[in-house]
Parts: sequence; structure tokens; C-alpha cells
Amino acid sequence: MARAVDVLVVGAGFAGAVLAERLAEAHGLRCLVVDRRPHAGGLAHDTLDGNGVRVPDHGPHWFRTADAAVRGYLERFATWRPVPYRIVARCDGRDWPFPPNLATYERLVGRAATVEEFERWLERQRVPCAAPRNAEEWALAHLGREFFERFCRGYTRKQWGREPRELEPEVLARVPLRLDRDERAFREPFQALPEGGFARLFERLLLHPRIEVRLGAEWRAIRAAVRARHLVWTGAVDEYFDFRHGPLPYRSLRFERETVAAERFQAVEQVNYPGDEPWTRIVEPKHVTGPRPAGVTTIVREFPRARGPGDEAYYPVPAAEARAAAERYAADAVAERGVTFAGRLGTYRYLNMDRVTAESLALAERLGPRLRAEAGR
Ligand code: FAD
Ligand code: UDP
Repeated sequence: MARAVDVLVVGAGFAGAVLAERLAEAHGLRCLVVDRRPHAGGLAHDTLDGNGVRVPDHGPHWFRTADAAVRGYLERFATWRPVPYRIVARCDGRDWPFPPNLATYERLVGRAATVEEFERWLERQRVPCAAPRNAEEWALAHLGREFFERFCRGYTRKQWGREPRELEPEVLARVPLRLDRDERAFREPFQALPEGGFARLFERLLLHPRIEVRLGAEWRAIRAAVRARHLVWTGAVDEYFDFRHGPLPYRSLRFERETVAAERFQAVEQVNYPGDEPWTRIVEPKHVTGPRPAGVTTIVREFPRARGPGDEAYYPVPAAEARAAAERYAADAVAERGVTFAGRLGTYRYLNMDRVTAESLALAERLGPRLRAEAGR
């Protein structure tokens, strides 16, 4: 006999877990959450490695948000430890405050400077553009030529395997420019990591009498054995439709971990390399992820690459032809009855964790009452 549930949720990352929790708790719906990975958490998952350092499985996951509702919601499932994340850029033989700010300018000119001087210099560096059509035009108009060439051109080429002018403006719009000397990498008021890691956060999110979780479960393998009123799909939208318009392009990464017999390898948790090195960044999680074993640390180098067979789908490609292909799938998704597509893969967007959480909270509010009425509860 098929297992009957109200909602089958494919994917136990932020999108699927938050939706399942809300639909179960706030709307009384019975949810089955399946994930092909052996753990919940999706890309945010982390583990204690052999050195006793908590290391993210899929690159740095620095949680931050300016959304009070998202913060309030997630604080119910974990104790969050504040972390003012720091990033530096290493190039031309030195470390630079990043994202670029007044202190970066001071390092460039080799002396203290005022905001007014910095602003006048920036005006000379900038190439005004009312409607930037690509990432290079955007960066030249906002960051100016010096910062763009020094910090962004090389990094972006490595990250995407394309020139910045072949990418959409939103990629480099992720690099802000600051007029003060704030050394934090991000400005969001809540910057924190969950105690016990994302692994524990997800255990708690999914611990509910109306939620059943099946890990190591491929949707195709279990679908015939489940009868659900509604499907929430947080897997890849092209996969759901059997790649009928061709596979959507993704950028992937290779991670290289190394054990270093030292208290610290680098000054901060993330060092970006816009220069000729084959990696884009080196992350040293021990600075921020919790346990701090003595005399040893773990570092992770990131090597971007085109997604080959067996590679993870990490980043949707922010380029016009990829977006056009994704729009064909988005139209199919809207027309598909009884299925809701969510999350970064389900909607083919470059989304941070807080945004995915906010969207799932909103989606549950829209879907919950309807599904509850349909279920007669
Ligand atoms: P996912 O986490 O990918 O979850 C989808 C789940 O669905 C997966 O677990 C997958 O196994 C499962 N699934 C898919 N298809 C099937 C199937 N057919 N059957 C069964 N299961 C299936 N965000 C931040 O806020 N801060 C950061 O610092 C940050 N750093 C990042 C670094 C990297 C390298 C990357 C790639 C992303 C980063 N992000 C960061 C973004 C963050 O990873 C996403 O916002 C988040 O993972 C989105 O959650 P999701 O549930 O949509 O997707
Ligand atoms: N970027 C850059 N130089 C840097 C860091 C980022 O040019 O030192 C560009 C690059 O194109 C990258 C984008 O900005 O893909 C977004 O960077 P972010 O650090 O937000 O990437 P993520 O952490 O999501 O991988």
C-alpha cells in the first residue's frame, strides 16, 4: 500500500525543511521529506572533521540576515553565536580589506585619508553608466576601475570561466563598496552561526510528529510508493521535467582540504585570491564554526570548474542564455498542477540562505490554508 501524506517534500535543505516545518506545525499537514543525500541540510550541511574542526561540506556558509522574521524563526531551532565575518583579498603581495572600503583605499595610497578624499578619488575611478548591461559595466560604475581590476576581474574569470562583461550585473552587485572602515564582510544586523552547526539546526527543524524524513532516498525511487496531495519540489527544475529543454548550466567547485599543524593558518576565516592562483579562496573554518582544537587547523581551497558528470550543481550561471533557458522551465513549472517549485535549484536562482528561508515562510502561508482545506482538516 502506498504511504499517504498531505505533502511530499523533495529536498531537506533550507527550502524543503522550512516549508515542511511550517506546513506541519502551523497548518497541521502531514509531510514526508525525502533527500537523496544521507543527511538533511542540503548545501549548508557541515561535519566535525578528523581534526575536530567543524567544516562545511560545500564551501563557506556564513549565515546573515536583515530580515527580523527570518531571524526570529530560526532562533527557535538553534542557539546562534554571533560572528562578525571577516574577509580579506590577497593579491599583489599584500592583504587588502574586502569588500573595498576606506581602509582599502588607505592601504592603496599608503596613508590615512578622509571620506571626502576617498569619494573624490572614487568619482575619478568610476565610469558612469545609467543602465549597466553586464557585470563589468556595473562594477566600473560603482566600484570604479582600480577596485574592479584589482579585486574582481581575475576572481570573476576564475569563478565563472567567463569575462565579467559576459555576466549579468547582479554578480558583481554582490560586492558592495563602503565609505567607512567597517571591517566586517557583511552589513546585515544578524550575522551568526548555529551552535552544533547547521547539522543540528536541521535535526531540530525536522523533528516534528507530523514530519517523516527519509534520507538517502531518491524521489524517482520512492514516488510510486507515496500518495501525496501536493508535491514541493526543491530539486533542480530541469531534472523534474526530464531535461526537456536541455540541461540548465551550473558552475561547480572542487574543494581541497588540508590539515595544517598550527594554531592558525591565516588571519581571518576567508581569504580571497583574485590573482593567478588556480583557487578563488581559502577558508579556515576554525575561526568561526565552533570547536577550536589546539595546535591544528583545517583549510579548504576552492577551485571553480564547469560542471561535469557527477559534479554538484553549485551556482546557476548568471548569464542571458542561461536565464532564457531557465525561463522556459519556469513557464512549465507555473503550469504544473499540484506541484510547488522552491529553493535555489527549483527556481534556478543564486539565493542566500536567509532569502530561501524567507521565501519558504511566505510560501507556507500561501499554500498551508489551501492544502489544509483540501485535506479536510
Ligand atoms: P539545497 O541546499 O541544494 O537543497 C536541495 C536538496 O534537494 C539537496 O539536499 C538535494 O540532495 C535534494 N534533492 C534534489 N533533487 C532530489 C531528488 N531527485 N531526490 C531527492 N532529493 C533531491 N548562502 C548564504 O546565505 N551564505 C553563504 O555564505 C553561502 N555560501 C554558499 C557557498 C557556496 C559554494 C554555494 C554553492 C552556496 C552558498 N550559499 C550561501 C547559498 C546556500 O547554499 C543556499 O541558499 C541554500 O543551500 C539553499 O537551500 P535549498 O534548500 O534551496 O537548496
Ligand atoms: N567577487 C570578486 N572578487 C572577490 C569576491 C567576489 O570579483 O574577491 C565576485 C565574483 O564574481 C563572485 C561574486 O563577486 O562570483 C559574488 O561573490 P560572493 O563572495 O558573494 O560569492 P559566494 O560566496 O556566493 O560564492
